[in-house]
Amino acid sequence: MRPLLDLQRVDSGIDRLNQRKADLPEQRELDELNEQRSGLAVTHAEAQASLDSVAREQTKLETEIQQIDDKVSHEQSRLYSGEVSNPKELANIQAELDALRRRKSHLEDQELEVMERRETIENEHGDLFTSLAELDGKIADATKRRDDASIEIENELKRFAEERAQLVPTIHPEVLALYEDIRARRGGVAVGALVDGTCRACGLPLSPMQRDEIKRSDEPIIRCENCRRLLVIPEG
Ligand SMILES: [Zn+2]
Repeated sequence: MRPLLDLQRVDSGIDRLNQRKADLPEQRELDELNEQRSGLAVTHAEAQASLDSVAREQTKLETEIQQIDDKVSHEQSRLYSGEVSNPKELANIQAELDALRRRKSHLEDQELEVMERRETIENEHGDLFTSLAELDGKIADATKRRDDASIEIENELKRFAEERAQLVPTIHPEVLALYEDIRARRGGVAVGALVDGTCRACGLPLSPMQRDEIKRSDEPIIRCENCRRLLVIPEG
């Protein structure tokens, strides 16, 4: 019955690996990083939108200032051309020029304010870009570690599967069916080693009566009287 202990060791190993595979720490780390990245990407996109908007604002102000400059040049050339001699008209032009210069000064203040805002947003945008790049580096690293861990698990599973394929033919089909049945009902453990009169699976000592029975009987299948698992006496 010794192969049963080996089969149990192999199956427990497979169970452990499958559990690990389903809940890889590397995968959890990667999920967290990807979540962080999604949040950061949204913030980054918002900063990009603010940046576009402030750039449009600045362009609009610059265009308006340029238009005022053009008007000022036009009015000035009229003023100094000598074409206009009517004092009232000249005074009107002068008043228009004053109004244009006030408007320009006001727009320039606005432009200065917009440029300051733009610089702040540009800095934030740049910082976000750097953070995203750093996060991408971490994601690449975590992905590699996750993949390495997965490959290692798959390789171990393959080795166990090969070992299992060699063990199974050495076990009687009825015993194997019983083993599978107990394993399904007993948390994956169907076999206990019998050491010093104690079932190692449930940790309970056998009664003197069952110990006696085991000594006298040549029955190949012994089951622990406490947990009903298959008992195997390890060699040596
Ligand atoms: Zn037991």
